[in-house]
Parts: sequence; structure tokens; C-alpha cells
Amino acid sequence: MSQPTSSPLDFALDTVRHASTIAEAVYAQMQNASLSKKDSSPVTVADFSIQAYIAQQLAQQFPKDPLVAEERSEILRKPEARKTLKSVTQYVGTLLPGADADEICRWIDLGAGEARGRFWTLDPIDGTKGFIRGDQFAVALALIEDGQVQCGVLGCPRLKLPFFNQPGILAFSQRGEGAWAMPLNGEGEAHRLGVSDHNRPQDAVLLRSFETAHTNPKRIGLVREKLGIRPEPVLFDSLVKYVALAAGVGDVVLRIVPESNPKRREKIWDHAAGVLIAEEAGGRVTDIDGKTLDFSQGFRLENNRGILATNGALHDQFLKIVKEVLEN
Ligand code: AMP
Ligand code: MG
Repeated sequence: MSQPTSSPLDFALDTVRHASTIAEAVYAQMQNASLSKKDSSPVTVADFSIQAYIAQQLAQQFPKDPLVAEERSEILRKPEARKTLKSVTQYVGTLLPGADADEICRWIDLGAGEARGRFWTLDPIDGTKGFIRGDQFAVALALIEDGQVQCGVLGCPRLKLPFFNQPGILAFSQRGEGAWAMPLNGEGEAHRLGVSDHNRPQDAVLLRSFETAHTNPKRIGLVREKLGIRPEPVLFDSLVKYVALAAGVGDVVLRIVPESNPKRREKIWDHAAGVLIAEEAGGRVTDIDGKTLDFSQGFRLENNRGILATNGALHDQFLKIVKEVLEN
């Protein structure tokens, strides 16, 4: 196996950038598009292809680092998924010529690593429903060491930020070195991200899940009412919400556990990269009880419920009102 030739951040930037091209290629063709997982959530050719590609690259560059990623090959190996596996093999082959179906399934399953010590976490397509709908999604990769997110990269092919001419953003951060965004196509300089300085809750722009079943629109509505918030919430799928917060496009990301599933805990790959980017842009991130997110508990945030990520200035005011709304 080869020695690492690049830093973790350079590796993640390069790999996520390449992986994002698969996502848009799959969308353009959308063949054998999606399968249904056991929890009936969709998984597409892009999810599998990107996880296979990134897992393979990681095994080459950082063979000692485990990967903790969302997908497994089990449903892809079933006879009824034959066409899907064939498509996955074709897409992975565009980046890794000659890759065969069997090894691709093995690469996908490298994502079953242990979330302990130093490891990477990946959501190959976060916001799969948004991806299929033609809305926002993100390719999300982060490096965690002893419960601290050290580096995070988000490929957001459909996100448009005010300081770039075209959609397609690569947002990234290394702990202590700020949060940055650059055009996903590599044409243009990186721009340092900074959260807004808005401190009046009435004017706060809330960033919320598009899928109502992923959050608690009723309670979020009550929070808005109590704070007298005027702007309508902006609905984005995926970790793109954290990038929008980091760029000052919105002021608050609020995720309240759905009423139907109060015990649900967040998955680390749905947050790690975004949390670091938001914090390094000057924001503050806790759960809805004000607790620090604890990335040392395996693949879920077992010690936290929901998410409150803000520009910092609005954090305490939101925490107080969220608490009141949850107590009722
Ligand atoms: P978002 O785009 O912010 O709604 O987040 C997408 C993520 O929500 C997915 O990656 C899932 O991990 C997570 N998710 C899926 N189903 C649910 C659910 N019923 N409740 C809460 N989160 C969910
Ligand atoms: Mg996800």
C-alpha cells in the first residue's frame, strides 16, 4: 500500500470534488435510479458509487484509518439489484477504470469501520431525497480524532453562494484554520466564510429541513411565533444548511426531533463536516438542550438530541425559547 501523499484535508478536497462529479452524472442519466432501504429511505446509484470510490481512495491513502459511512452493499448484492450494481460499476469505473462489481461491494463495506480514536465519516449523498428531487444535497466527508472533528469537506453541486457566479461549492475546514468555500469546478479562489452578525431574533432567517418528517415543523413554528420571527424559514436538504449558515445566508439551523420518533438520535455523518465548518466560520453549535455535540459515542450522537446551530449572537435567545417550547 502506498504512503499518504497528501494531508487529510488535501485528500478530502480532491476526493470529494471527484466524487461530486459522479453525483451529477448519475442525476443527468438517473438510470436504475433508487432502491429502498429497510427503513424505506431511498438509496441511489450515486450513494453506492461515491461510497465505493471514497472508501477505495481512503484505503489507498490512509490504510490505517477506519471509515464510518452510511451505506452497505447488502441490498446491492441481491439478484433484483443486478441492474443497479451494473450502473454502479460503470460510474465507479469512470474514476477507477477496471473496477469490478465484487470489489466495489467490498469497498462499500469498508464503511462499516469502528467509530473510535481516529476515523473518517462519510455520507456519500446526504439529502438523497433532495438529490432525487433536483434540490440540495451534499457529499460529506470528515475526519474525527478522539471525538473532535478535525477536518470536514462538503461537496455541494447545487448550492449557489452570493460570492460565486455559478452553483457548485466545495466548502471545507481544518480545525483552527477557518472555514472556506471555493467553486466545485476548481475555477476560482477560495473565499473565507463568516456567519452573519444579526442579533435580532425577529429578523433571523431559519434554515430547516425540506422533509417535514425529518424534523418538527410544529415546534419550529412555535419557536418562530414566540420570537416573533418575520422571515419565512429557508428549506434546504442536507448539510448544505450548515454551509448556508457559515456563509451568512441564514442565521440559525434548527433541527428538533420529530414528534413521531422522539428517541431518534442523529448520525455523525449527517453533521460532522458541517459542524466544523459552521464553528470555524464563527458560529456556535449545540444540541437543542445546549449541550456540546459528542462525537465520541460511536456512529450516533447518543448524548444529544436535535441540533441548534447559530451565528453565535442568536444562540442563547434561541436556546431559551426552544426550551420553553419543548417543556409545553
Ligand atoms: P435533512 O436533509 O436535513 O432533512 O437531513 C437528511 C438526513 O435526515 C438523512 O441523511 C437522514 O439521516 C436523516 N433522516 C432520515 N429520516 C429521518 C427521520 N425520520 N427523522 C429524522 N432524520 C431523518
Ligand atoms: Mg444523510
